[in-house]
Amino acid sequence: MTEAEPKPAAAPVRPAYDITGLKSRLAGIKTEDNPALVKQKSRDFYWYSPTLKRQLDHVVGDIIVSPTSEQEVIETLGAAFELGIPVTPRGTGTGNYGQAMPLSGGIVLDLSGMNRVKAVQPGRFVAEAGAVIAEIDKVARPQNQEIRMHPSTYATASVGGFIAGGSGGIGSITWGGLRDAGNVIRLKVVTMEEEPRVLELSGDDLARVTHAYGTNGIITEVEMPLGPAYRWVDLFLGFDTFERAAAFANELGEQDGIAKKNIAVVAAPAPRTYFLRHQDYIAEDQHVVIAIIADFAVDAALNLARRAGAELLLRSDKVPEEERKKLPPGFELTWNHTTLRALRVDPAITYLQVLYPFPDQVKLATALHERFGEEVMGHLEFVRFDGKVTCFGLPLVRFTTEERLEEIMRIHEDLGAPIFNPHRYTLEEGGMKQTDEVQLAFKREADPKGLLNPGKMIAWEDPDYDYRSGKTFLFKSLAAAGVSP
Ligand code: FAD
Repeated sequence: MTEAEPKPAAAPVRPAYDITGLKSRLAGIKTEDNPALVKQKSRDFYWYSPTLKRQLDHVVGDIIVSPTSEQEVIETLGAAFELGIPVTPRGTGTGNYGQAMPLSGGIVLDLSGMNRVKAVQPGRFVAEAGAVIAEIDKVARPQNQEIRMHPSTYATASVGGFIAGGSGGIGSITWGGLRDAGNVIRLKVVTMEEEPRVLELSGDDLARVTHAYGTNGIITEVEMPLGPAYRWVDLFLGFDTFERAAAFANELGEQDGIAKKNIAVVAAPAPRTYFLRHQDYIAEDQHVVIAIIADFAVDAALNLARRAGAELLLRSDKVPEEERKKLPPGFELTWNHTTLRALRVDPAITYLQVLYPFPDQVKLATALHERFGEEVMGHLEFVRFDGKVTCFGLPLVRFTTEERLEEIMRIHEDLGAPIFNPHRYTLEEGGMKQTDEVQLAFKREADPKGLLNPGKMIAWEDPDYDYRSGKTFLFKSLAAAGVSP
């Protein structure tokens, strides 16, 4: 190398694992170490966040292991335990916070091949964790049943990934969130020990692994409730102010007699600008409520809408077949699909996750919408929590700098709207900003070497971490790779 040539960037510092030894131990199980394919399966939708994109872009595993049975999961975890190789589980990689990204390299455990729907009975189903949610419904629908709650990634997300990484979504206006009692019936979980055990968890024990990002066990089987499969109709309703749209959405949410699956509000000009296939139906200044209502309840919902001064922009059951085929289902404009559609038009868009506490949700969401104008475009998703209708926000943010993003979040919290920070890869910073003692205790028991999805649970990595410090936690392997907080 001549003096004029730049020095290559320092290679990320990371332990070298015995991948050859692993492969020989897993002779009968499908593995893949082609670097391009491993890189592909080492990603999720972390790039929604400019902060996570900066921090995690270099992250890559060493090998993909794709078990097709619980026995193969047991063999993989046993071998990884013996060789000290980290294991990061992956469903289909639609998570948003780098959840499924192997911060310390090692094994990406691809569970998408464990996808059998094992049983459908009145009110419940049993499936392997890698089953895609829409595929579960294909088996349940002939019995007029369907999954009660799903993410807007219904068509691609695995049910195990939803339970380990998601929080709720379409259906939460009726059934609450994933962690609410009754929304998961039973899980089978494999531990990361010398002799991996298979545990059956139900009742209060479910909280050990739900929304734990796979840091303390691998879910292999899921039992969840089913609800009635109605013919659902998408209603698009236009309002002249965000406040009226939000107040109507709240009122509709409180109508227990109206069977509903989702109610979202998206502030102007986002619907017209970002919902490209629906543009002909929406005026630029219209704030839009997207409501998914059972066909027999549409008249009742429209009566309410008329009284609230709404304009009916579209109802999916009245759109000619040819036109309907060109439109995505309404739920694919809600939850984090709203962000995805905005990002496709304007790559500078990012988002927040906000809770507007009951009972002031409409007032607070409106005040925040008015405070920021088009820098933070309102997007509300109505949910029923503990019997009360309230809303979450996933507002669309026109990103300028990480400092301004932090400031916007601070303003929300100062005004009484807690942020579940989607720009952090740890459980605690993205959640309650405190140790989850139940999940930590289960990790001590089920993953004593700390090999499952390292770096995601601060309480394990740094038991003395001060969540009130205002700092961003930086996992040691990221620090070693030269990443700044
Ligand atoms: P992955 O991304 O593969 O994994 C998610 C987490 O679970 C990771 O930490 C992974 O390590 C862990 N994991 C995966 N499988 C297992 C297992 N078997 N055992 C233990 N741990 C495991 N989320 C919502 O809650 N509601 C929404 O409405 C929603 N909408 C979304 C819309 C878009 C456009 C996008 C990109 C994301 C959205 N999400 C939503 C986030 C994500 O899609 C869901 O959480 C989804 O259910 C994740 O499933 P997955 O199979 O892709 O999981």
